[in-house]
Amino acid sequence: MRILVTGGAGFLGSHLCERLLSDGHDVICVDNFYTGTKENIMHLMANPKFEVMRHDVTFPLYVEVDQIYNLACPASPVHYQSDPVQTTKTSVHGAINMLGLAKRTGARILQASTSEVYGDPEVHPQTEDYWGRVNPIGIRSCYDEGKRCAETLFFDYWRQHNVEIKVMRIFNTYGPRMHPNDGRVVSNFIVQALRGEDITIYGDGSQTRSFCYVDDLIDGMVQFMNSPAEFTGPLNVGNPVEFTISALAEKAIQMVGGSSKIVFKDLPSDDPKQRQPDISLARKELNWEPKVGLEQGLAKTVSYFRQVLA
Ligand code: NAD
Ligand code: UDP
Repeated sequence: MRILVTGGAGFLGSHLCERLLSDGHDVICVDNFYTGTKENIMHLMANPKFEVMRHDVTFPLYVEVDQIYNLACPASPVHYQSDPVQTTKTSVHGAINMLGLAKRTGARILQASTSEVYGDPEVHPQTEDYWGRVNPIGIRSCYDEGKRCAETLFFDYWRQHNVEIKVMRIFNTYGPRMHPNDGRVVSNFIVQALRGEDITIYGDGSQTRSFCYVDDLIDGMVQFMNSPAEFTGPLNVGNPVEFTISALAEKAIQMVGGSSKIVFKDLPSDDPKQRQPDISLARKELNWEPKVGLEQGLAKTVSYFRQVLA
């Protein structure tokens, strides 16, 4: 197949491009390099089945493809909050443009949605039928509401235009090729520990997240895309083992070694207090389940950052 990956030069996108090429597909990677880098995809450039286009998904795109993975959107709070209007445009105009492309070409399209659609949840763990608790006017809203609106557009294109959709709610995922300045917690803690800097916990560290290693996530994504057409999702994909942010900080220090101390900073507003995916649906429909535990995944990520920082 010829497959379009938007956001293909980003953290998840670059792993997805690599996986699709190794499965024998032609891959078109579209990216505006806002948070993605050429380094992430440099090793794929020599492959004649790989093509890169610098393009912003808020503008229409005309290519002929069989499948579309729509990943374009900054995912780290620091980056999506630095140009919030563009973040909403990327999710909403980007979804409209990519859904339009899917409609014209008859391509199946997968949306990289997020656990953020649940906001600061009162239901724990989060199941797909939970509607969420999202602040519509806060500093995270450009991302959360943008992604929620994108989900709406996906389901309306499905109901109204019969576009084959897959809506995947991704929970916190980490691994090699996160940018050292990405700003998300796993890369921050590892990079800080490797540099011997203070480990910055926002708030008191009692908030929780559940961390999925990138290879598990990409397996789930490709399996979901190729599942029967009637299975649209939304589908949670993530690792259900939940940790406090304090426990993650201690683990990072223990794994990296060195002399870093923990310091506490203000908790950003609307920071969700707890998060854990209920993955019963993914288990049932895809027979998917994460295989890589936190220790093992962190070890691979630490060795990646050791190389990058050296
Ligand atoms: P990332 O920031 O590394 O990648 C996003 C990519 O999209 C970058 O290459 C960036 O340059 C590109 N991009 C941004 N705006 C664009 C635009 N207007 N046009 C074209 N390209 C654009 O983040 P990631 O972690 O790889 O996330 C990929 C997708 O998965 C995002 O949609 C994100 O919301 C979603 N997601 C990720 C996680 C996670 O934990 N990694 C969790 C939930 C959802
Ligand atoms: N966080 C932290 N220190 C950091 C970066 C993040 O304590 O240096 C916290 C953040 O406040 C949040 C959690 O870690 O409670 C996860 O943050 P991240 O930005 O990785 O993802 P998200 O909040 O979108 O799940």
